[in-house]
Formats: sequence, C-alpha cells, structure tokens
Amino acid sequence: MLTVTNLHKSFDTTEGPLPVLRGISLSLEAGKSLALTGESGSGKSTLLHLIGCLDHPDSGEITLDGERFDTLDDAGRARIRREAIGLVFQQFNLIPSLTVAQNLSFQARLAGRLDQDWQSDLAEKLGLTPFLDRYPEQLSGGQQQRVAVGRALAPRPRLVLADEPTGNLDEATGDAVLDIMLDLVTETGAAFLMVTHSERLAARLDNRIHLAKGTLADDLPVQGIAV
Ligand code: ADP
Ligand code: MG
Repeated sequence: MLTVTNLHKSFDTTEGPLPVLRGISLSLEAGKSLALTGESGSGKSTLLHLIGCLDHPDSGEITLDGERFDTLDDAGRARIRREAIGLVFQQFNLIPSLTVAQNLSFQARLAGRLDQDWQSDLAEKLGLTPFLDRYPEQLSGGQQQRVAVGRALAPRPRLVLADEPTGNLDEATGDAVLDIMLDLVTETGAAFLMVTHSERLAARLDNRIHLAKGTLADDLPVQGIAV
C-alpha cells in the first residue's frame, strides 16, 4: 500500500520559488487503480516523480508497504525504483539499440528478477510475441508502448506509475493499451497510479483525484483521499 502525507514541493525559478504541491495526501491499496487529472502545469508529473523516487519532496512523507522512502539517499531511492516501482511515460523511452525481447527484460535484469516464463507470458498478453527480435523503430507507437508496459511489469513491481501513457496514441490504440495495463496490474496485484488528461480514461479506473492550485480538489463526486 502507498501512502502520501502532506507533500510539499516548490521549484526555484528566476521569479523566486514556485510552489507546485501544497500539502498532498492520498493512499492507494495494492490491486487498486487511481487516476490523477488536472490542467497542464498543475503538478501531476511532479507528484508522480516524487512518488516514483525520481525526485524528493521539500516536506511530507511517502511510504510503500510501510517503508518510508522520501528520506532515503540517492542509492536508496534507486533501489526502490529498481525493485518496487514500474514507470511508464508518454514518450515510450525504449532503448533503440536493444530488441523488443531485450527491452522487455531490461528492468527485470536490473532488479535481479528475470523470469523467462513470466516474460514470455507478458509478451503473449501484450501481443508482442511476433516482434521479439525487432527493434523499437520497426514498431508502431502502440506496439512500442506495449513494450514499455511489459518492461515496467516484468519485475512484478508493487507500484506502477504511468504519466499520460496513452498521450501519444490515437484513441483506439490508447484504449487497447489501457485495457492491457489494467488487466496486468490486476493480475499482478500492483497498485496503479495513472496521470491522464482524459476524463473518459480516468473514469475507467477504480478512483480518481484532481489536482488544482497545488492541492487535491474535494468537489468531485468520487474523491481519492482513500482508495
Ligand atoms: P503537469 O504534469 O500537471 O503538466 P508539472 O508537474 O510538469 O505539471 O509542472 C508543474 C509546474 O512546475 C509547472 O509550472 C512547471 O513549469 C513547474 N516545474 C516542473 N518541473 C520543474 C523544474 N524542474 N524546475 C522548475 N519548474 C518546474
Ligand atoms: Mg505532466
């Protein structure tokens, strides 16, 4: 289970400090999915980066299964990223010089959790079995994003974070990618937090939260403080 408590984050800019997150709290249980919406510039990616151990908050607390990780040093954060968190971005971020099979196993290798049966299973579920020897540039956008999803899920992370994962895909392709992601996170029991612009996609997750002016709005019919 993920818990975020009273998170604050500002950035230094030429016009002085820019407060982006002003006291964010939420929790997300294993096996549940949560959509994070909000206007461009509202701080969605910033929040995802903090939860994903890519950056650290000014204050507040983040725990995963009871382990507090916002206070870890760089090496500790890298370990959590490797072992517990799967990340999917809008830009697919595949490694161009590696084949689909090598991209799929990349994170699992880093985490020391390579499992050939699970990887074959993943490739099959993602419809990638015919493309294992291809390189990313030889795939469509939807296929590339499915490789990125497989790479993130291969180490069986406890938490999957996706930042506008369908933002570069047409609607039908994006829907198909989200279907597969939801199936896979359910199957693995991971907690799933997804940033999206789309109300339609947000409605497909178990719950949703909306970020505005650095805080989570409380005027939604379904509110995400506890999921
Ligand atoms: P969103 O993902 O909701 O579009 P972001 O989290 O990317 O928003 O950005 C929130 C605000 O923080 C924006 O005003 C952005 O310009 C600013 N910001 C993000 N990262 C940095 C940074 N590293 N340095 C300075 N400002 C930043
Ligand atoms: Mg963003």
